[in-house]
Amino acid sequence: MASPIFHGLAGAGLTLLLAGGDPLPPFASTGRRWLALGAGGVVACLPDVDYLPGLWRGYLNTTHQQMTHSLVWIVLVAAGLWLLGRAWRPALFGRRMLGLLLVLLGSHLLIDGVTADRLAPYGFSLWAPFSFRPVLASFSWFPAWQKTALADLWHWHNVWALTREVVFGLLLLGACAWVKRGWTHRQPAL
Ligand SMILES: [Zn+2]
Repeated sequence: MASPIFHGLAGAGLTLLLAGGDPLPPFASTGRRWLALGAGGVVACLPDVDYLPGLWRGYLNTTHQQMTHSLVWIVLVAAGLWLLGRAWRPALFGRRMLGLLLVLLGSHLLIDGVTADRLAPYGFSLWAPFSFRPVLASFSWFPAWQKTALADLWHWHNVWALTREVVFGLLLLGACAWVKRGWTHRQPAL
């Protein structure tokens, strides 16, 4: 499964690409832009909260790739965040924001689906709680990073795997910025 580095950069890129328009005002200032991109990156990483129980047990994969990597969880969390946001700022959290939340959380599953998995059960429980049959693409675009325990973060293998994620993540972010710039030129409302 990809690390929070690629998920975060992809989330920031998707936010840059999709945020804007009347329901979600365009970024009025540089500070606000970074805040929005950061928030998008964090939302895209949310399914990996299932690493947290592993931090206490010393084995990061204790509960990883189970319920939080399912479509049901994604829809419930997107709806929950949207309702909270709506109570906070109704003008900002319109239907378009709900779509953005679903895309950000959905991007996590899509990326994990095309990342190599080195530990059984290979894949994640996309259809939980209805089925716990692991789902994973037959090909992988990203190598798995070593994450059995926190000490593994400094494993030599991770230098290669995470450098690759940084490079591809920045390329994706740049591509999103480039496409958005093209849209903005043609359609000032975005
Ligand atoms: Zn994940």
